[in-house]
Amino acid sequence: MRASPIQPTVDFNADGEQHGFLKLPYSHDASAWGAVMIPITVIRNGDGPTALLTGGNHGDEYEGPIALSQLAATLRADDVKGRVIIVPFMNYPAFRAGSRTSPIDRGNLNRSFPGKPDGTVTEKIADYFQRHLLPLADYVLDLHAGGRTLDFVPFAAIHVLPEAQQQARCEAAMRAFGAPYSMRMLELDSVGLFDTAAEEAGKVFVSTELGGGGTATAQSVAVAARGIRGFLQHAGVLAHEPPEDAPRTTTLLDMPDGTCFTTSEHDGLLEMCKDLGETVESGEVIARIYDASRTGVAPVEYRARRGGLLAARHFPGLVGIGDTVAVVADVVERGIPVSV
Ligand code: CA
Repeated sequence: MRASPIQPTVDFNADGEQHGFLKLPYSHDASAWGAVMIPITVIRNGDGPTALLTGGNHGDEYEGPIALSQLAATLRADDVKGRVIIVPFMNYPAFRAGSRTSPIDRGNLNRSFPGKPDGTVTEKIADYFQRHLLPLADYVLDLHAGGRTLDFVPFAAIHVLPEAQQQARCEAAMRAFGAPYSMRMLELDSVGLFDTAAEEAGKVFVSTELGGGGTATAQSVAVAARGIRGFLQHAGVLAHEPPEDAPRTTTLLDMPDGTCFTTSEHDGLLEMCKDLGETVESGEVIARIYDASRTGVAPVEYRARRGGLLAARHFPGLVGIGDTVAVVADVVERGIPVSV
């Protein structure tokens, strides 16, 4: 296969702290011999495991970019055993535009794996992660949130994997992240995901959904920052911290099948009848959609297809046909102590 056009300005094998770029040539009207400059930090201290930490896979999700920018500015090589590679804004053009997909090619990075070295800008980014960064990593953490159109209870997530041992290792890392919720996640369409690429490469992979609405809160950023530390301690890259005064717990959730999802079959005005984190009975009304073109018409009621906990919801006040209105997850176990 063709070589990647992306050149790193950092040396992945050098000890110390390096802040540089992944330089992706991109010729366009405003810059004939220009490049997309994707910021990257590499912090290495001798031999040991490598953790790859990523945010901004979707450009309108902010907990990852904020918490990873904090980490990149403060983490010192002396704190580390092995190597941490930090890319806070994976799909950098999308991040700069504040949009889920790239303004250059409309590419959704998390549907573009394994990518192509001679494809679109987004496919070139995917290819570089696939063939150059994933092989360096033992542990991979990709921080997501709901973006502008979804909102979530804060959770770390893994997938059900064909290899039970790998799944157990991912599950242990998810619990070390220690978000308020920990999810066994079902993907409706797993083709092209960074998740799938990392899992198929045998990595310990954890993803998150930490909030949404196209912004971040003090609480969701704190969950991200604490979770990253727990993940790095679990990986053996950071030393373990003394136990917290008030031990944290996580609630294990599961999305066993497609009945978790409620999809809108109408356009209109959305009234959520349950809030995130609330318990929902099977058959209970979770949302109403009003016809926004006239008065005097009863709204359409959407009922939960299973009982559980409202884990995700459509964020904007207007909803369209085909939008995910809500996700109801099974509560497997509450009050699991977090330990790295
Ligand atoms: Ca996302």
